[in-house]
Amino acid sequence: MKMFLLTLLLLISACGKDPGKKSSTQAQNPNTIFGANQITVKVYYEEGAEPYTQDSDLALLKYWSIYQANIEALFKNRSPKPTLVIPTSLSQMTKIKTVGKAKWSIDDVLSLSKTVETSESGLVFKIFFVKGEYTENSNVLGFHISNTYTMAIFKDVIARSGSEAERIPQYVEQATIIHETGHALGLVNNGLPMKAAHQDSEHGAHCNEPTCVMYWQNEGTSGLRNFVKNLIQTRSIVMFDSQCLNDAQNY
Ligand SMILES: [Zn+2]
Ligand SMILES: [Zn+2]
Repeated sequence: MKMFLLTLLLLISACGKDPGKKSSTQAQNPNTIFGANQITVKVYYEEGAEPYTQDSDLALLKYWSIYQANIEALFKNRSPKPTLVIPTSLSQMTKIKTVGKAKWSIDDVLSLSKTVETSESGLVFKIFFVKGEYTENSNVLGFHISNTYTMAIFKDVIARSGSEAERIPQYVEQATIIHETGHALGLVNNGLPMKAAHQDSEHGAHCNEPTCVMYWQNEGTSGLRNFVKNLIQTRSIVMFDSQCLNDAQNY
């Protein structure tokens, strides 16, 4: 039984091999992204799929400041730096009408994305927190849609990734949006050129370094849970390794 479970976990983490229009099928355009003077992140959520925003015990810890720190790290060397507009509290995010889907295809997420209008200037990333699962793989935590700035996050899968008291799903959620935003920015070797070879080509647009948030297994629950446990121990906030940071910081 144990053996079977392990095999199953390995299989379902194989996000780079999924069919469809996930990240690695079409490259992102780094000129548009790294040339933008403003990047706005819009977060939409279904009722019951609210992102974790603030730790109730440690009132100072805003989970989305982890996301902010990681995106800032990627743009560290840009001059002038783009203005980043990133929500940190639920009141800065948008509740949408519940779609109520148990299974989401990539086209379902694209259709949902077309129902929201944005008026911000510059580049706009849209992140949808929904209930239910990805049609192709019930353990995928989220995906970025190739050649777009749209991402889906599967809140039910995140919520069951571990104990909230130990803050596992909270960090898993942050790591997931950071991973998918990395794809939206053209990582790894998917529009954004590599400074040194570090693409794990066998698994699509992913990094060959297991301690990096762009490692392929960090898109499925089991891989990311281990990654996050390690992260909490080392108290590291920036989840990209130096190879991924180098690609972005030198573009
Ligand atoms: Zn991925
Ligand atoms: Zn990396």
